[in-house]
Amino acid sequence: MKEGLLVVISGASGTGKGTVCKKLFETEKKLAFSVSATTRAPREGEVDGVNYWFLKKERFEEMIEAGEFLEWAKVYDNYYGTPLKKVEERLKNGEDILLEIDTQGALNVMEKMPKGVFIFLLPPSLAELKRRIEGRGTETEESLKKRLGAAKGEIALGEKYQYLVVNDEIENAVKSIKNILKAEKLKSERNLNLLEELK
Ligand code: ADP
Ligand code: 5GP
Repeated sequence: MKEGLLVVISGASGTGKGTVCKKLFETEKKLAFSVSATTRAPREGEVDGVNYWFLKKERFEEMIEAGEFLEWAKVYDNYYGTPLKKVEERLKNGEDILLEIDTQGALNVMEKMPKGVFIFLLPPSLAELKRRIEGRGTETEESLKKRLGAAKGEIALGEKYQYLVVNDEIENAVKSIKNILKAEKLKSERNLNLLEELK
């Protein structure tokens, strides 16, 4: 059985990761979303166990202690982390899984799981990024400032990823990500069985 693909998508807050991933999941039925744990409060419409596992700080810290995270990070004053067990189980079963995580977390995953596919989503411009976060209307003035303040530093880390995708039009970004996944699946190292069968 071939191991599934571990796909990591990062990008500055407001770039459109959530929007692009949602669209991607509409057609990529075999791709699973890794539901992260977080200590931040749910936004309107967010459902526990679907968008995130919303946890109290104490519970999150217990999970860190118990080694239950593949990675975790403090992002804008809250904890965020990827539960390890689900990721391991899925990959072992040959299922692909997508992690939508921040740059600190992604750099940790690059070390632990170098076979992963690392994609960085970029906004078309910083002005458009600001418009998108403001337009989403989910942040307080303080949180907005933090997210914009962190954006340039996060974007600079884009060079560590294998792929850079600009989210100009949602459809374009989704198409690019689908192309990346298709190419990754065709890599020779994942398909050596084809050569064996023809020997
Ligand atoms: P992230 O998950 O990266 O923080 P979101 O998916 O929440 O970002 O998107 C931030 C805002 O930008 C949302 O209001 C969303 O509707 C909007 N948005 C996302 N992608 C695009 C796009 N390609 N063009 C215009 N607006 C977009
Ligand atoms: P938001 O609060 O806007 O949902 O997410 C804030 C940031 O946390 C985003 O950059 C998002 O990708 C990141 N994030 C979400 N889940 C995780 C996770 O499990 N681990 C890490 N390291 N970052 C995460």
